[in-house]
Amino acid sequence: MASPHRPAPNELAALRRRYRRERERRVRPDGLRQYLGADAEFGFYAADPYVGEPAGREPLRDTVDVAVVGGGFAGILAGARLRQQGVARVRILDKGGDFGGTWYWNRYPGVHCDIESHVYLPMLDETGYVPQWKYAPGEEIRQHAMRIARQYDLYADALFSTTVTALTWEESSRTWIVATDRGDRFRATYVITGTGTMTEPKLPGIPGIQDFEGHTFHTSRWDYAYTGGTPQGGLTGLADKRVGVVGTGATGVQVIPMLAEDAGHVHVFQRTPSTVDVRANRRTTAEDVGADRAGWARARRENFLRIVSGETFDEDLVADGWTSSASLLEKLLPSFRRPDDREAFEAAHEIADATKMNEVRARVAQAVTDPSTAETLKPWYRYACKRPTFSDTYYAAFNRSNVTLVDTADTHGIERVTEDGVVVGGTVYALDCLIFATGFAVGVSGVHSGRLPVHGRGGVQLLDAWARHGIRTLHGFTANGFPNLIQMGSLQNAGSVNFTHVLDEQAVHAAALVAAAEAKGALVEPSREAEAAWIATLAEGAPDHEWFHAECTPGYYNREGRGRPGGPTAYPHGAHAFHELLRRWREESMDEVLAWPLTPDA
Ligand code: NAP
Repeated sequence: MASPHRPAPNELAALRRRYRRERERRVRPDGLRQYLGADAEFGFYAADPYVGEPAGREPLRDTVDVAVVGGGFAGILAGARLRQQGVARVRILDKGGDFGGTWYWNRYPGVHCDIESHVYLPMLDETGYVPQWKYAPGEEIRQHAMRIARQYDLYADALFSTTVTALTWEESSRTWIVATDRGDRFRATYVITGTGTMTEPKLPGIPGIQDFEGHTFHTSRWDYAYTGGTPQGGLTGLADKRVGVVGTGATGVQVIPMLAEDAGHVHVFQRTPSTVDVRANRRTTAEDVGADRAGWARARRENFLRIVSGETFDEDLVADGWTSSASLLEKLLPSFRRPDDREAFEAAHEIADATKMNEVRARVAQAVTDPSTAETLKPWYRYACKRPTFSDTYYAAFNRSNVTLVDTADTHGIERVTEDGVVVGGTVYALDCLIFATGFAVGVSGVHSGRLPVHGRGGVQLLDAWARHGIRTLHGFTANGFPNLIQMGSLQNAGSVNFTHVLDEQAVHAAALVAAAEAKGALVEPSREAEAAWIATLAEGAPDHEWFHAECTPGYYNREGRGRPGGPTAYPHGAHAFHELLRRWREESMDEVLAWPLTPDA
């Protein structure tokens, strides 16, 4: 049966016009410069609220087999997979006080992962753990990260509250020298970087933001000492407070209903409304796990990846908002689908997109009592322009008398912050507390930001080399001139909405590279030819989605309206196909391309 939300033939042109108008209303001339630098003058988010000032310790000068930069899922999985390969000394370093990465820092009320826990939580088969809910709360995910770390004995050599400040290859000893902000200067035969993609809290450069005299913090540094309560709620400290929230992305959508429950009054300062689809969280059932538990999570995870990579499938095991709308994300995640008739494909895609967005707008109209508030909450852009979100409590929160929605689109966000509130459209909103759910800077983490200088052979800096010759890697992991350095992340590799799955495949690959090099007494380092061949492979199938993102409403997906960088940045046939490619490569080509048996003078 055709969807009741399918647009009438003459509706599409009107929708296009409306989307363009909304985009123009939001694009700012200052683009990416509208945000404060990640190391801005704001001490208030630099501190770790969970451990306070770290205890002193002696700087380390020893040698380990592998140093892993980052203790989020990338680092933990690298550690676990290295252990499976029998690697003894693995030292994971993180600036946080424990394992968990994004789940270490983000403990705001309502924090959950909106990717199904059965596919998001890695190593479920290996640990025997069964998540309690279809969509897990942040604390359950954090506990699972620590569970893996314990199971694979990763605490033994870990260094927390420690930031790696430089990685330098020493040719004479064929080791990396790892320097940290705690005075460490130890050696590692291999370095694996898993530094995350969005780790630095981002604040808007609103005039006067430094002047606010009430309480203020970023959601990734939630101040429970002030608000009271826990991620489950009970924010008693806010009962008599006027709270402002800036930001209505995936974080805002989770946190706002919790604030609405407990705060005296909540002002939600919205710039662009999110697409908020059905959540339908529920307990994990015996059916999810299956009678024969063996490999249940792996099978489910593969099934999910195939679907969100745009591949054909017989069965949808997860059956949620991601899988049902996967085809609409085709412009976001390179997929193998290359239609013969591009025009017909795009026309059908636009209709499917409009059908979905009409459905979401109808959901708003149905859930929100006040028509003007409902209108303001409706998203006017194509589905893949902004990250989709999911909640069954978000829209209802706006029916409460203690919640006010303030539209800031016409003024491109909040105009001004004063000592005791914020100003939008000339109206002053007096506040006791101002919370920033404004997300994270993109591309400023670790190696790619230049914040973690990596000096390879002959002292060459990785970013300098890439600035001169373009980014050159083999499969995104390794680079000529930077022996035994293995990078995790999506650059020239693969991405997916279920990033922990991608990271796990990367960890398996990284550990296999280390094991192969150890077995042969070789270095992990691709030839220039291997790099060139990989870049040619990326370029061959790179889709041209520039036009789509250039039309999108601004956000971090399109560099605040500037469009999305084109070119061969990721494997163009989807993560599932990429993992198959890596498996084959490990079986057939690893020796040829990577293992350079070296003499001491080579
Ligand atoms: P985000 O998606 O970057 O959203 C930031 C929000 O702040 C946007 O609504 C933005 O509005 C708003 N904003 C920025 N400057 C503003 C200004 N000057 N005035 C008013 N509003 C302003 O950040 P996020 O929600 O924290 O998400 C960050 C990342 O974490 C995303 O990748 C997200 O997918 C991920 N995340 C995932 C989950 C999960 O369940 N898996 C949960 C939470 C977060 P505009 O849209 O107009 O720019």
